[in-house]
Amino acid sequence: MCGACCVAPDIAALDKPLGLVCPHLGDDHRCTVYERRPQVCRDYQPDELCERIAAPTLEERVHKYLAHFELTDEAARVKASGLTSRAALLARAGATPPR
Ligand code: SF4
Repeated sequence: MCGACCVAPDIAALDKPLGLVCPHLGDDHRCTVYERRPQVCRDYQPDELCERIAAPTLEERVHKYLAHFELTDEAARVKASGLTSRAALLARAGATPPR
């Protein structure tokens, strides 16, 4: 029910850009497609980062996650771009999405 890793990181398997909420994250911070979530989500194991970013709200946890990896500015640029897909962001940057 943390939700930070469903918001903060860039997730290629979901075409989810950095810092944007996964469309499958429910209002209760639980995965709404838990039984068919992608392998990357199945493989994720909570670690010491979870303790480092612990905070009362999802917004605070995401902020701490992005700050930990020095991605705050990049996430702000993604948000300001208005693009909601990772592929679109990569195309704008002239990069090819990895397979
Ligand atoms: S698919 Fe589910 S577990 Fe994976 S990022 Fe989205 S909400 Fe989180």
